[in-house]
Amino acid sequence: MRAEGIGTVRRILCVFPRYTSSFGTFEHAYPLTDGVQAFMPPQGLLLIAAYLPENWPVRFIDENIRPATKEDFEWAEAVFVSGMHIQRQQMNDICRRAHAFDLAVAIGGPSVSACPDYYPSFDYLHVGELGDATNELIARLAHDPSRPEQQVVLKTNDRLPMTEFPIPAYELAEVKKYFLGSIQYSSGCPYQCEFCDIPGLYGRNPRLKSPQQIIAELDKLRECGVTGSVYFVDDNFIGNRKAALDLLPHLVEWQKRTGYVMRLACEATLNIAKRPEILEKMREAFFVTVFCGIETPDPDALKAMHKDHNMMVPILEGIQTINSYGMEVVSGIIMGLDTDKPETGDALLAFVEESQIPLLTINLLQALPKTPLWDRLEKEGRLIYDDDGRDSNVQFLLPYEQVVDSWRKCMEVAYQPEKLFARYQYQCDYTYAQRIKVPVTPEQKSWANIKRGLIMLRNIFWKVGVLGDYRKVFWKFALGRLRRGDIEGLIGPAMIGHHLIMFARAASVGQQNASNYSIRLREASVPAE
Ligand code: SF4
Repeated sequence: MRAEGIGTVRRILCVFPRYTSSFGTFEHAYPLTDGVQAFMPPQGLLLIAAYLPENWPVRFIDENIRPATKEDFEWAEAVFVSGMHIQRQQMNDICRRAHAFDLAVAIGGPSVSACPDYYPSFDYLHVGELGDATNELIARLAHDPSRPEQQVVLKTNDRLPMTEFPIPAYELAEVKKYFLGSIQYSSGCPYQCEFCDIPGLYGRNPRLKSPQQIIAELDKLRECGVTGSVYFVDDNFIGNRKAALDLLPHLVEWQKRTGYVMRLACEATLNIAKRPEILEKMREAFFVTVFCGIETPDPDALKAMHKDHNMMVPILEGIQTINSYGMEVVSGIIMGLDTDKPETGDALLAFVEESQIPLLTINLLQALPKTPLWDRLEKEGRLIYDDDGRDSNVQFLLPYEQVVDSWRKCMEVAYQPEKLFARYQYQCDYTYAQRIKVPVTPEQKSWANIKRGLIMLRNIFWKVGVLGDYRKVFWKFALGRLRRGDIEGLIGPAMIGHHLIMFARAASVGQQNASNYSIRLREASVPAE
């Protein structure tokens, strides 16, 4: 559904802030693609765009692709912004630029919902999810689009059921310029890991869309030109296991009907390994990647952070089980935990080798507002409010420099090209080999798709195979794939591997942040060229 009954017409400019360099956005891979410029279409802003009254013209700008221009601001009557904590400086900068045109600016999304006080300059704060606050914002702008004299804070008390969410306005985004397509099925998570703000922000009882909505969204993504991979951005795809089981047959059916045009990926807790009935359906639905927040291989640490559910099966066994259904595991890892010891880094590197996981996002612990971790550290006097010059706002129990050095060493060693491609080789041999064989669709055989593949191969061969300083390692891997005619198995690891190697090199010499949340080294107000 969308907001209704509004007689006036307002032109709304939705601006998504630029991300700065981050491990998880794969920007070193973009030059190897056929024109990718950004990571994923932002769900929140595209959802709001779809919810606005039908007669309100909407323009959507992702500043990862191009900056909002003078002409955009002159066109608009109000500006909407949304984003995460790491985009805070960029969001405040969009507000400053919009105010130069005397436009009212509203901000919504996870960052302002957790920390309204980060955004003193905005005219409207939309706190919480889509719901009564959204209707109130629309009504106020319909009545008067000029800037209010004081900041107005609108809080959602009555959330719109997800079954009534409109399909995000994917048609406004240049979907072909994104690395991945995105889709959201659920919101919230039943667990309460100490460091995580999801239960606090979105609740412990996951809310859900219907399978029919998801199928309609997949159809729309396809119509808009998404091919390749689609990522379920839900924080825990199995937050409601029964619902996941209900959805999966629909996904299988859709994949069969469309000829398996999309590879699917999601985030889920590691205890998914205990659910063969879910894993089997995921295999059939062509899920190829699962991001698991493993966080640490240390059982004492998992207990301390209230992530005991990661120990429902032995961790390595759980990873192997998921792999046996054709799904590569991507893992989140946290360093700087209270349970860390001087030898934690070495134990982590041993785990990386044993697990054979190619891609692990290794971050320093950061305390987010609205988390049990924040409350505990605040009581213990271990929160650092002015964290400029540091990569974390946590006073670690080990010396700060020791923790950061250990992180840098882990990044350096884990992403040495030889080690990384050996892990990818394992995935080819033991994980990818377990995937269902999908038919070659007319879309895949189309000239446009072949051309796309050839452009990517040309870029990879030239930039990595000829100019790259790890070309010997690359060719050893690539020739193996080429001999098997496995072009997809070559392109994916080559692109992602290149990003990981480049990012880790910068990280190991202190040129990248040790936390995805730290704003050190992040530039403010630099929209895409
Ligand atoms: S399982 Fe994941 S989403 Fe759920 S509370 Fe823990 S970290 Fe957050």
